[in-house]
Amino acid sequence: MNQRLEKLQTWMRENEIDVSFLTSSENVFYLSGYYTNPHERLLALVVFQEKEPFLVCPGMEIHDAKRSGWDHEIIGYSDTENPWELVQQSIHKRNNKLSKAAIEKEHMNVERFEQLSGLFPSASFVSAEEKLRLLRMIKNEKELKIIEEACALADYAVEFGCSEIKEGKTELDVLNALEYALKQKGVTEMSFATMVLTGANAASPHGNPGQTRIQKGDLVLFDLGVVVDRYCSDITRTVAFGDINDKQKEIYDTVLKSQLAAIEASMPGNTAAEVDITARKIISEAGYGEYFPHRLGHGLGISVHEYPSMTSTNPLVLEEGMVYTIEPGIYVPDVAGVRIEDDVFITKDGAKVLTKFPKELQIIK
Ligand code: MN
Ligand code: MN
Repeated sequence: MNQRLEKLQTWMRENEIDVSFLTSSENVFYLSGYYTNPHERLLALVVFQEKEPFLVCPGMEIHDAKRSGWDHEIIGYSDTENPWELVQQSIHKRNNKLSKAAIEKEHMNVERFEQLSGLFPSASFVSAEEKLRLLRMIKNEKELKIIEEACALADYAVEFGCSEIKEGKTELDVLNALEYALKQKGVTEMSFATMVLTGANAASPHGNPGQTRIQKGDLVLFDLGVVVDRYCSDITRTVAFGDINDKQKEIYDTVLKSQLAAIEASMPGNTAAEVDITARKIISEAGYGEYFPHRLGHGLGISVHEYPSMTSTNPLVLEEGMVYTIEPGIYVPDVAGVRIEDDVFITKDGAKVLTKFPKELQIIK
């Protein structure tokens, strides 16, 4: 049994949970090593306190699942079979009286819950999500190495994107060029839909890139991430095309100061809230508090948003092994939108910054 499964089983014993029925691709991957997007088909990892776990996947994927290193039972089903009958048989073989089951309540849909609870009418259902979030929050050396690789590719993408900025090019022109360059380096997946935003569009924290043309005196905001071996990176840089005005410069400097202070505050023993508040205070004192409408950052790993959530109210104490983003922003409509985002890894001495593209204002001529 791998260590991650053992930790889950310990939690199950402590909480008298007979079976964990896990269904999200991310958690199945974390615990089994097998990643798949099953679309509408059922994927499940079924774990018991002591008995052998099993994986349920579409029959055509059995070979891939074996190759991924999962060395326990795999139950495949064809498109004409009912996987729930197979699930019931396999669970009953291992455990006859099943009174408490852990599921991913935020992931499992109603149809599947009805199927599962129909099979075990006397069982109660608890959520496994919080436990898995806490397990996934602390990264090991191997995970860190992969995330570092994903961050290096994100740095490259921003650098390439900057080299593509020219008068009259659209946001989508630059976006396409940088994603093409990544594909040539073997990248097959982005962490989320890449953002290249300019002018007024950059003043929206979640803007949509389009046909807006880049003009001298504009800021250009890149927000993107690369997936490597199922792990995500996430970087934001805001650069200037030609000379920008004093107001834009002041906003940029404020965001940078706030971002650097949050990196400094990212020490084991400090809370997530303290780090957020450190950054927020600098922006508020500069008079832009109302223009920083989101949390400081989020954990990063197999999912692009995971624990720890870096909010002003999260009492979670930072620990070695956590990976999260630090991404303060100021968005003043019709004036400027600036966000600077790094991914950091918490060591015993503080934050190791994994994204390395320069943060001093880059002025592209
Ligand atoms: Mn981002
Ligand atoms: Mn982010």
